[in-house]
This record gives sequence, C-alpha cells and structure tokens, in this order.
Amino acid sequence: MTVDLDAIAHNVGVLQQHAGDAMVMAVVKGDAYGHGLVPSARAALRGGARWLGVAQLQEALALRSAGVTAPLLSWLHAPGVDFARAIEADIDLGVPAVWEIDAIAAAARETGRVARVQLKVDTGLARNGAFGPDWPMLVQAAQRHVADGTLKVTGVFTHFAFADVPHHPTVQAQQVRFADAVRDCERAGFDLEVRHMSNSAATLTTPKAAWDMVRPGLAVYGLSPVPDIGGSSRFGLIPAMTMSANVTVTKRVPIGQGVSYSHTYVTPRETTLVDVPCGYADGVPRAASSKGPVLIGGRRFTVSGRVCMDQFVVDVGDLPVQAGDDVVLFGNGADGGPTAQDWAEVTDTISYEIVTRTSSRLPRIYLGDTNER
Ligand SMILES: *Cc1c(COP(=O)(O)O)cnc(C)c1O
Repeated sequence: MTVDLDAIAHNVGVLQQHAGDAMVMAVVKGDAYGHGLVPSARAALRGGARWLGVAQLQEALALRSAGVTAPLLSWLHAPGVDFARAIEADIDLGVPAVWEIDAIAAAARETGRVARVQLKVDTGLARNGAFGPDWPMLVQAAQRHVADGTLKVTGVFTHFAFADVPHHPTVQAQQVRFADAVRDCERAGFDLEVRHMSNSAATLTTPKAAWDMVRPGLAVYGLSPVPDIGGSSRFGLIPAMTMSANVTVTKRVPIGQGVSYSHTYVTPRETTLVDVPCGYADGVPRAASSKGPVLIGGRRFTVSGRVCMDQFVVDVGDLPVQAGDDVVLFGNGADGGPTAQDWAEVTDTISYEIVTRTSSRLPRIYLGDTNER
C-alpha cells in the first residue's frame, strides 16, 4: 500500500478553508484510519492542523513516544486506564462521566500535576458523553476538582448523529443543546480554550457549527463523508491511500472452469486468470467476492469468485498480464481506477471501514514529504 503524505497535508488545507478562523484538530484514531499513525499525524500538522485527536490513550502515548509535541486530545477510556501517564504526557482527556473525572483527579494528585480535561456532553447521539441529568453532575464534579487545584477544564465538546444529512432536524437541535452546555461551563467559571463539535461532514457542510475547532477524520485522508452530496473531488480532497498488489501467477483455463473456493465463479469462455496476493487477512472484504473492482493494465475488472485469506483471482479475458504486474484495488481515482468509496458501495459499507480495516501486515510505503518537524 502507498500513502501520499502530501495529499494528507493538502486535505488539511482544504478543511482549514472550510473551518475559517477555527482550528483544525486532525483525528488520527484507528492508526490514522489505516494510513499509519505517526507519519499521517506529522503530515496533518505540516498541512496546518493545530491539534491531534485520538480515541484511545495508547494512541496518544504512541504519538508522544514518537516525539510529537502538538496538543493532543484522547476521548475514550474504560475504567482502569492509566491516567497518570496521560497527565505526565500532557494529553488532554475527554471526559463523559463522573467516575472518570474522579479517577483523573486522583491521578493528578498522585503525579502532582494539574490534569487538562475536556468535558464531553451528549447532545443527542446517545453514545459516549454525559446525557441528561448526568451533564450537570459532571459539571459540578469538575467544579469541585478545579477548586481543589487538581484539574483545569480546557474545553467542552460533543458529536453529531446526522452530520452527513445537513438538513436533518437533529443537526440544528444538537447545536442548540451544545450552546446551552457551553453556557453551563462558562457559568461554572471554566476558562475554556476550545469548544468543538464538527466532524468531517459538519466541517464541509455546516460551517456555522465550527466554534473554535473542527475535528475531521475521514476527510483528512481525502475521502468524502457525504458521498451522496459530493465525492472527494467535489470538495477538492485527494484520497491518500492506494491499495495495490503484484500478480503472482497467471494461467490460461478453458470455458467452464470453476474459480477459487466453492467455484462461485465459472469462466464463461477460455480465458486468462490472474492471482492477486492479498485477501481478507489484509483487510480485503470477503463480501467483495465477485464484486470488488480492480484496475489492471489500465482496464477495470472485477474479483472473480471468493476472496480468500491471502489472495483472490481475477478473470482478465485475453489481456496480456504477467507475474509482477500491478493490480490496483483502490486509489485516488485520478487514473479512472476504483476508489475506497467504490469498494464501500459494492460491499454495503462506508469508506471509513474500507481504509481502516487494512491490516498492519501490508507494508505502508510513504510518498511525499516525510520530513519530521
Ligand atoms: C471519529 C471521530 C471524529 C472524526 O469523525 P469523521 O467522521 O471521521 O470526521 C470526530 N470526533 C469524534 C468524537 C470521533 O469519535
């Protein structure tokens, strides 16, 4: 697989234009949506991102270990997480619950440092975040710990349920609830640095929700979060990941030859088959059996029969193909080749899953400026 770091930097620039005066936090959770955590984070910072966002503390600590010093927010923690390490590594912690803010305050006392927390309010997604009466209880708990000198509340944030449907009534309703939550924080006397709610879809389609910062993930990697409204090119985004492999063997087979496990594909005439050495262990969905589009020799073909763990087969007709030839599963689409969005459509999922599920077994080759700064 190749990852175009210049595309990531470019995409952050596109998102910054949509964000106006607000800062961009590039979300690099899930190994930067499969693109590789540290190189992708550095490319996003080079493109102008001011913050980085992750779900898990181990991701934030990996960035710090790699020498990344940018402001970092981690927002999904289960009981037992080592908050002391997070505080020592100067990581902002997203907090949805009283148990967690109490645990962070205890860890802060242990380390002798003031923890930085951002309160997460549930304004209607009904997922992670303080909902209903839990919200004022979280604000009160935060106030107590701030008064003790163990915590600083640096921000407040929430997450949309329907940002990809900009006219959905919840998009407006969540903004109203968020404004109320911001007011609750101001009344509590918190000296907020950042107030934020927009993911990629909201950044691109609901600019008035930008507040002080936007939190795009998918669009940083050049994929459209709103394919029904517009693909990547409509927003000037460049997909960064190209997944390709080299043909291992080719063979000429007669009409009526069943192909791959269970022979779900049968050759309609004498033809050439090529074997492609990536499969579901690499993140190629098995659901793409007889559906996944590929580009070989500048022409589009479809996976023939079952995707196996390590390989799949393509019927290329009479195209002259040799061992070693390039097979592109998806890329930036500029050459007429398939995209991650195309793979998402044929497997009934979203492009997020297609790129994120790619396995660490695949070598990632980085293109573009890889300089550290
Ligand atoms: C994953 C995530 C994002 C980024 O979402 P995209 O749709 O990829 O832009 C932003 N905020 C939170 C809380 C997230 O979990």
